[in-house]
Amino acid sequence: MTATLHSDPANPQWVLASNNKGKLNEFKRLFKAADLNIDIIPQGELNIEDAVEDGLSFIENAIIKARHASRISGLPAIADDSGLCVPALGNAPGIYSARYAGEHGNDANNNAKLIADLKPLRQQHTPITGYFVCVLAFVRHADDPLPIIAQGLWQGEILEAPQGENGFGYDPLFWVPDLQLTAAAMSPEQKNKISHRGLAINSLLKQLTSQ
Ligand code: IMP
Repeated sequence: MTATLHSDPANPQWVLASNNKGKLNEFKRLFKAADLNIDIIPQGELNIEDAVEDGLSFIENAIIKARHASRISGLPAIADDSGLCVPALGNAPGIYSARYAGEHGNDANNNAKLIADLKPLRQQHTPITGYFVCVLAFVRHADDPLPIIAQGLWQGEILEAPQGENGFGYDPLFWVPDLQLTAAAMSPEQKNKISHRGLAINSLLKQLTSQ
């Protein structure tokens, strides 16, 4: 990792531009496993409120969030913009995944709305497919003209009823046929190995270390 990536090479600190507890837990494990010599500080610890996500794509929103956290903290920042896309719903909830049912971050209501919206589209023996998207943006400073972008996709099927107690968000409805489990029935390690977020973080780390 090059010294140009962080403000103080002796004690590098980056802000993680998210207040989503589920994401933060996954990030902590993934960064720990990567054995980075970098102190990752969740933006909540610096009293940084969520940015207004008014981009039209995961990439735009990830950059908006990273710049916002970096501008307020004065530190390099990483942001995650992620969500679930269901082709049968025109790729909804997509970038609106966190507020699909209205209230930001209400996982129970979002899942209930997804189940209800898919009900009339279901046909016997035909699974409804969906995929998780995770886009990460890393900015060295708030006005960085060349953010580093990484993305990961995770294909699965959307169940009619939740299964599993782990994870967050749409995990209980996200069925992975190869493993015959929902994302919420996997251990955190198992999910991180194959998930959209795990893939995106590996891709980001490769780009950072090859700079
Ligand atoms: P964001 O915080 O605006 O990026 O919204 C992310 C939303 O997408 C979350 O609130 C969840 O609803 C959904 N989401 C993203 N990643 C996951 C995941 O790994 N499992 C389940 N839901 C996810």
